[in-house]
Amino acid sequence: YAGKEAVHMLQSRVQSHVAAHRRVDPDVALCEELRTATWPTGRVLCGGEILTYGWDVYNEQCAKLTPRFIMQPKTTEDVQKAVRFAKNNNLNISFRGQGHTYNCAAFQQNSLNLDLRTMGSTVTTRKIGEDTLAILSPGSTFQTIKDTISSQLSFTHGTCPTVGVMGFHLHGGWGATTDTWANESIVQMEVVTADGALHTLNAESTGEEAQLWNAMRVAGSSFGIVTELTIRLFNRRERPYLVLPVLNDFDFLLSKVPNGAAFGWVGLARWDKVFYPQSTVLGHGWILQIVLNDLYPWTLTSALSWVFFNGIQLAFSYFAQIPPNIPTNAETWLNGLYPFQDSAVFTRFYPLSDIRDKAKLLESFLSQHVDNCRYNLGPLQGESARLPLVTVECNTLQTAALLKDFVRQNSAVLLPDKPGSGYINLPLDDTSTYREAYFPQYDELAAIKCLWDPSDLFYSRVGIHPEGCSGS
Ligand SMILES: Cc1cc2nc3c(=O)[nH]c(=O)nc-3n(C[C@H](O)[C@H](O)[C@H](O)COP(=O)(O)OP(=O)(O)OC[C@H]3O[C@@H](n4cnc5c(N)ncnc54)[C@H](O)[C@@H]3O)c2cc1C
Repeated sequence: YAGKEAVHMLQSRVQSHVAAHRRVDPDVALCEELRTATWPTGRVLCGGEILTYGWDVYNEQCAKLTPRFIMQPKTTEDVQKAVRFAKNNNLNISFRGQGHTYNCAAFQQNSLNLDLRTMGSTVTTRKIGEDTLAILSPGSTFQTIKDTISSQLSFTHGTCPTVGVMGFHLHGGWGATTDTWANESIVQMEVVTADGALHTLNAESTGEEAQLWNAMRVAGSSFGIVTELTIRLFNRRERPYLVLPVLNDFDFLLSKVPNGAAFGWVGLARWDKVFYPQSTVLGHGWILQIVLNDLYPWTLTSALSWVFFNGIQLAFSYFAQIPPNIPTNAETWLNGLYPFQDSAVFTRFYPLSDIRDKAKLLESFLSQHVDNCRYNLGPLQGESARLPLVTVECNTLQTAALLKDFVRQNSAVLLPDKPGSGYINLPLDDTSTYREAYFPQYDELAAIKCLWDPSDLFYSRVGIHPEGCSGS
């Protein structure tokens, strides 16, 4: 009885303390309420504490979107409580993984921001018959998957090893070494929806959950917060990847890149100065990217013969200069370039018959801004595979703005707002101008949004909104 009395006294003291604070500063009281609700697992940063937060983002502009509260959840229950808390207190909510979004979709000024990295980066594998599944935590990255799985298995991933798996898989996910989308490999997910409920979604889901399952794999962040994602790994080694620095100019290389070849796929890239010091092997200029079908000696010989007989001049002098600690991927932070002042990326898929013209036009922009922009074409994967894509990314305030202008001025050719880009994680800016291009099925997704998040709690400017809901 004495214990109960003490607890009761403590509770009423806390309540009167909170009430007193609420009178002084509503944020202080809200902060304490959230702390109490998620204690002892969740960590909440409020007021001045937010200034000490390590943003760790790709685009520095994101760090300007100061949240009202930052919550670092450890458990799914923490996430559920935070969602209910935001809803009950009429707060905007935003949530981040590894912070690699170009357009800061993971952040919102004055919101309650959930930093999901504290839920861990664990990757576990499970064998079911012939299949191997990987179960991913919200903080996992391409690198943590690679570090965990057997080299006999592979998965679809992008260029940069620090990109978060959630943002990537839940919005399409394109990779150079596979010809399928990352979201096609999702077999199950645990999702917290806007009412704070937890759902297990998979191909067996029915009714409204089946609709949510479809939407989550196209525009996930508009519909729910994933606390666990299960993907099916490919039962094969990753396709080997050659990165060959070359001396030829762009026009020559463009005329030589085949639509598809017996040995695999060929693409072009230029990353120098943006990601690598100029004197290093990847920092010198144009790079031929060759994705081989397999590791058989015949395949490699066939690729190298193609290089030799097509007049490709390898930049041997750069190979000779490879320093022992050269970054093996776009590990920009190793070069002290990360985060970037601003970041804008134009990526679009075109039919094989058109892509060379568009690639040439975009290269005319790149050639003016090669110090601060990077470029990728393909690899081209043949007639029957996914459409090939061309990408230009710029990473200063000035070049990011210039790229947007260039795309606008050339919209008749580049078709930035026309359906056909395919859903992908790379909208050019944070307006809704291009939404039909990224989400050709926008109306269908908006109808699902009406079912699951009619008040747009999971608001993302580039995402899906509850438009045309009956009764609204
Ligand atoms: C250098 C670079 C190279 C890239 N290359 C490719 C590429 O080759 N192919 C490609 O497809 N993309 C590529 N991307 C884009 C990248 O895949 C997306 O920006 C992706 O969304 C990043 O995920 P993240 O978790 O790191 O980012 P974040 O900024 O943390 O999140 C991105 C989005 O995902 C949402 N999100 C994060 N975690 C969750 C979760 N648990 N549940 C629900 N929503 C969540 C966020 O709210 C936000 O809307 C590249 C990006 C960079 C910077």
